[in-house]
Amino acid sequence: MSLREIFYECFECGNLYPAVGHKTSCEECGGILQYSYPNLQPKKLSDLTERGLPGMWIFQKVLPLLKPASNMIHLGEGRTNLYEDQTIARMAGRSDVTFLVKDESTNPTGTIKDRSASVALSVYKERNIPNITLSSTGNTATSYGLYNQRAFRKLAIFVPTEMENLINFDDENERTRIILVNGRYVDAMSLSIRMAEETSYVLDGGFANPDQIAGLETAAYEAYFQLYEKYGKHARSLMDSGKVWYIHPTGSGNGLLGWYQAIERLREYGFLKEYIHLVCVQPEGCASIVDPALKGQDRITQRINSTTWAKIIENEYPKNCYPYVKYVVRETLGLFHKVNEEKSKEIYENSESIFEIQIMSPAAIAIQATIELADQFDSGDVVIIGYTGVEREKRHYNFERIGPVSKDATISQILEENPQLLY
Ligand SMILES: [Zn+2]
Repeated sequence: MSLREIFYECFECGNLYPAVGHKTSCEECGGILQYSYPNLQPKKLSDLTERGLPGMWIFQKVLPLLKPASNMIHLGEGRTNLYEDQTIARMAGRSDVTFLVKDESTNPTGTIKDRSASVALSVYKERNIPNITLSSTGNTATSYGLYNQRAFRKLAIFVPTEMENLINFDDENERTRIILVNGRYVDAMSLSIRMAEETSYVLDGGFANPDQIAGLETAAYEAYFQLYEKYGKHARSLMDSGKVWYIHPTGSGNGLLGWYQAIERLREYGFLKEYIHLVCVQPEGCASIVDPALKGQDRITQRINSTTWAKIIENEYPKNCYPYVKYVVRETLGLFHKVNEEKSKEIYENSESIFEIQIMSPAAIAIQATIELADQFDSGDVVIIGYTGVEREKRHYNFERIGPVSKDATISQILEENPQLLY
């Protein structure tokens, strides 16, 4: 353990950088970064896990902490269920295909974002990064707010005012500030970018934050081991013959990057031959990645105007993440698909009677996508559906709100009116 080495590695040119401080892009080519662990050379599957550690931290060897014992912030995230759902099989009309749900609802705040928050806040704590700014459509803000109760960082999180009701944590330490923005998610995002440019706050980076991606990667490792639990040795032949799919409701696509990274590592270590096919799904009203990908565009240069009901995964201008999402889906021989708005909303509204839980909109998008894509699967295929979150009763209101501020406000105006952000 003392020989542990961690590097940032450029996703595009492969350049390596020591994993110190907080870095979100390559100095040479501007590419996004992922983590590299040169000393880790697992010979057998059990070498990948660290028995005795809780939750997703069993995969600590592929998580970027030097001193997990003192810096890991674990609040119960990970080790979520992977269960077969025959209701979805019936709805899809495919009894010859197995539909498995990767159910992230048992994470502390009920969403997959707790995986990213757990790693990101642990890293900020270990590397002593004091002030961080980010933007969120609600779920990330909730996760970061909760984990910051143990990381004691100063967080400034920009959230569109209309998503305020989704935020659900108590802030006993008064270290997490939610800055409400009268505008769309992209407006909140550009304010957080400017905040980082003009103050001592560091930009978390969202999809470009390697800590977040590392956290999401753990969901894929869990699914890999759970397939072994379910199918025994047959799991390997299913995966090696390309019969496994993962369907991900996509906002900026960092969940897909996490899966891709996990798959790549498993291939590198010799634990997997073929890819698990990654499927990027978005609602028709905000198909900001799916539409240009289906048209074969290399880049996105224009913001769209979203009309989707599924606000949580609304991303009107995913220009930075787009090339990566396109790459990982193509590389894994996956699919891009946009989902019917009304039908997915119907699933959301009836989810308690159909599935006995109140899922969040992204899970409804994933389920409807599975139904619409039913013809694409071969007999005997295994389709994993990302239930990225469930709705919880909102109980927590005790956190500091700032604003609402105008989307056109300058950072100096915001700081002048809210000097508490400065100390
Ligand atoms: Zn590079």
